Amino acid sequence: MHLKSIVLKGFKSFPDRTKLDFGTGVSVIVGPNGSGKSNVTDAVLWAMGEQSPLAVRGQSMQDVIFGGGRGVQARSSAEVEIVLDNSDQTVDLPLGEISIVRRLDRNGDGTYLLNGAKCRLVDVLEVLSDTGLGKEMHSVVSQGRVTAIVSSKPKDRRLLIEEAAGLGKHRKRRRRAQLKLERTQDNLDRALDVEREAR
Ligand code: ATP
Repeated sequence: MHLKSIVLKGFKSFPDRTKLDFGTGVSVIVGPNGSGKSNVTDAVLWAMGEQSPLAVRGQSMQDVIFGGGRGVQARSSAEVEIVLDNSDQTVDLPLGEISIVRRLDRNGDGTYLLNGAKCRLVDVLEVLSDTGLGKEMHSVVSQGRVTAIVSSKPKDRRLLIEEAAGLGKHRKRRRRAQLKLERTQDNLDRALDVEREAR
């Protein structure tokens, strides 16, 4: 699976519809300081359902809406679409492409669309959970994070790599299974007690 394209409209420094296409392999975005390179990665994170304004370098979520400048009027909404190539069926849906759209109006109204159909944030997160993308999967690593990762303790770095490799999901499943086993053992002990008393 790879990111095929991203379309930004009214998002941060992109007032007008701007489409970026990506091939397979490594893509590099170059440009002068302050030209909007990090805004593109912010947009990817935001479209994937990021809920913290700080994570997309704002104070409030409405800060992602183009606020005007250089003779261009502020916009009333921001919209980002990311298109993921699903020809390898990473997401178990009969779709060659997965399109996720997120919109936000200045009044705070937000919308998500999955392949054109209105959906909830949980639906977006559900689809992304099998892709290695999405929240807490470290698919977007900001400039400051790189230094923090390089200078982190080996144990913390290992945790981060395990999360990125998708082990976190399995750890959570193992914990849930352990709790279920403990509950079943309790029930069994109680049943044995009852049986013993009845003898
Ligand atoms: P650097 O190379 O210094 O890291 P960069 O190319 O990554 O820079 P960004 O941080 O992506 O640049 O973009 C910063 C620019 O985006 C600034 O000029 C800022 O004014 C503009 N910007 C951010 N949010 C908005 C907004 N809501 N409306 C208009 N412009 C915005």
